[in-house]
Amino acid sequence: METVLRYRYRAYPGTVESAALSRTFGSCRVVANDAIAARQHAYKNGLAALSLGVLSTRLTAAKQTPERAWLGEVSAVALQQALKDVDVAYRNFFSSLKGTRRGPKMGPPKFRSRHTSRQGVRFTRNARFKIEGTPGGQARLFLPKIGWLPFVLSRPLPSDPTSVTVIREADGRTYLSFVVTVIDVPQVVAGRVCGIDPGLSTYATILSVDTGTGEEEVGKIDTPMFLRRKERALARSGRSLSRKKKGSRNRAKAKVRVAVLHRKVREARLDHAHQKAAEIVATHDIIAIEALSVAGMARTNLAKSVHDQAMAQFLRLIVEKAARQGRTVVPLGRFFPSTQTCSTCGAITGPKGQAGLGVRHWTCTNCGVTHDRDVNAARNILAEGLRLLKLGQPSTVADGQSETSNACGVEVRPPETAAPDVEPGRTRSGQSCSA
Ligand SMILES: [Zn+2]
Repeated sequence: METVLRYRYRAYPGTVESAALSRTFGSCRVVANDAIAARQHAYKNGLAALSLGVLSTRLTAAKQTPERAWLGEVSAVALQQALKDVDVAYRNFFSSLKGTRRGPKMGPPKFRSRHTSRQGVRFTRNARFKIEGTPGGQARLFLPKIGWLPFVLSRPLPSDPTSVTVIREADGRTYLSFVVTVIDVPQVVAGRVCGIDPGLSTYATILSVDTGTGEEEVGKIDTPMFLRRKERALARSGRSLSRKKKGSRNRAKAKVRVAVLHRKVREARLDHAHQKAAEIVATHDIIAIEALSVAGMARTNLAKSVHDQAMAQFLRLIVEKAARQGRTVVPLGRFFPSTQTCSTCGAITGPKGQAGLGVRHWTCTNCGVTHDRDVNAARNILAEGLRLLKLGQPSTVADGQSETSNACGVEVRPPETAAPDVEPGRTRSGQSCSA
């Protein structure tokens, strides 16, 4: 199976290239905003929606006018991509309105602000970008009308990239995100199956069973200490920022500090989740998970807690890795009573509701067996997963995955006709897709 992935590297643009990049970010933003304004105008006046072709012709014409002549200074390919993004955003919006699109409801595209902290611009092969360099060493990327951007090729690119997105993060760092194709090698049979119970105090509880001997093994994944420490520091710096006077220099400095800490927490969390998900997928043939955190939470527009987001990310990674390695993931419905059911006798005698949240251990009033709350839940999840699999019901694709594949149109994390990680400048309401 082929998978489309993103490979990301940090770039170190020089002063001249940095300025050229800023110009390109700005121009793409103006082009996108012009397109949105034109479509809104057409809509308000009862005219037909403007197609990508029409917008593209208008863009070419605009470059001849004195007000927009400066658009000629940046790559035409990047500007066309900005138009395309708007077009895709509108398509998603309309199919969401019609109900032909899965996933959360989409709003119409919004005007982009120059104050958005994360900026990005995409170059396709048509832009004739060039890469020079050796794996593990210094490399550089040539972009039209920008120049050479040095970067470290920390791992080799598995194939010729079809596009590259240049991203400037809130903390000022620049990244190159290449879209590449990798060919997956299915894993050998592991001989183990598992149920995963995502938790609050424990990150996740895993009940792993050897399919040959029936021997059980309990694994608990905790949030690592270094990550907790970083999260606390982030919360502190956020509070500090909120006390700074609007528009002051101190506020600007605090803002950068928060952005840096955000990045550190994000990177550490993602790294941890990748490692744990890889371990689970490498050692299990069948993985039953509670889909609650994956799909249910992504569907709401309510503010999600840091924990929920981390959980959703972890489960999404399991689904993605499983799909690539030929493993089976069985997602369970969000209303499956994994905690309340006694895994020994099947009676619903476990802790319920708000009062039951803090219960670590409980004894079944029907059969008298004492359970660890999380292990019991993981055992129920595994049993239910295997049962559904026998009925031939579920697919290897958890609900959360189709969710992701729809979330942002074409450029999303695997579900694999698409590239992971979303292009900047496109977010769905309330949530960043690359969360
Ligand atoms: Zn019981």
